[in-house]
Amino acid sequence: SDGATPNEGYQPPSEFDINEPTIARVYDALLGGKDNFAADRAGADTYLKYVPDSGKCAKENREALVKGVQYLVRQGIDQFLDIGSGLPTVKNTHEAAQEINPEAKVVYVDNDPIVLAHGRALLATNNSTTVVTADLRRPNEILENEDVQRMLDFSRPIALMIVGLHMHFHDDEQPDEWVRTILDTMPAGSYLFITDFVDTGEPLQKAMEQAGLESLGNGWIRTPERIKEHFLGLPLEPPGLDFLARWFPGEPDRVLTPAEDLEPYQRILMAGIAKKG
Ligand code: SAM
Repeated sequence: SDGATPNEGYQPPSEFDINEPTIARVYDALLGGKDNFAADRAGADTYLKYVPDSGKCAKENREALVKGVQYLVRQGIDQFLDIGSGLPTVKNTHEAAQEINPEAKVVYVDNDPIVLAHGRALLATNNSTTVVTADLRRPNEILENEDVQRMLDFSRPIALMIVGLHMHFHDDEQPDEWVRTILDTMPAGSYLFITDFVDTGEPLQKAMEQAGLESLGNGWIRTPERIKEHFLGLPLEPPGLDFLARWFPGEPDRVLTPAEDLEPYQRILMAGIAKKG
C-alpha cells in the first residue's frame, strides 16, 4: 500500500487535499475508522505521542454524544442540528436518536466536505437525516441552507449540538456569538449540548492542546468557568458540566467515580446540556 489510500477502490473527490490532515479525518483515525489518509494518520500519531490514550478520549466523546442525544430524545426532542458532526461512520447522532425515536430528524453540519461525501452514501436511504457542508463561523449560512430549512421545524424545540468541536477548535475570536445567532432562531424548550477540552491545570490536558496545535494548528483548552460561558447564561441540566466519564444526564441516582479516581485521559473533556427557557 502507498499509505495514502484508506480503503480499496476509494477515490477521494478532487477537492480534497489529502496531504494536509483535517480534524474530521484525524478524529476518524483515532476512532479506528477507515476514512483517513497518511497525513491524517500522522496527525493522529502526534496526538498519540502526547496523549497515548487519545483514541480512548475520542471514543468517550462519542459515547458522551450518545448519552446526551438519548437524554434529549427522552425529553421529547425530535430534531437535532449537529454542527461539527464528523464522519458518520461510528455510532453518531442519527443512530443514537432514531434508535429511540425512528422519526427523529437529524441535520449534520460540517465544514469538511469529506463528511458530505461519505454522509451522502451512508444516509442515502435515511429520509430523516441529511448532511450539509457549512461552517459554524458563518451561522447565517447554516440557518438559510435549504436542507436545514426543509428538515427542521423552527417553530418547535430543536437540540443544537456543538460536540467535540466548539470552542476548542477556535481561538477566542467570537465563538459564543456564532452559537447565539443560531440559538436565537430556536424556540423555548430547545437545548444546547456541548463537549469541550477542559483546563483544570493537569499536564495531560496541556499535552492534548500541544498535540492539536502541532498537528492541526488548533485545539485549545479552556477552564470549566469559561466553558460554562459557552452556554450563554442558560441553566445547565443536572448534573451540570462534568468530565465525560462522570456525566450521565437524567441519571441522578447513579454512583459516580470520584473525579480524582478517573484516569488522567478521562479528565480531558467535559460535557454539558443547557435548556432554553
Ligand atoms: N461531533 C463529533 C463527535 O463529537 O463525535 C465529531 C467531532 S470532530 C472531533 C470535530 C468536527 O468538527 C470535525 O469533523 C471538523 O471538520 C468539524 N469542524 C471544525 N470546525 C468547524 C466549523 N467551524 N464549522 C463546522 N464544522 C467544523
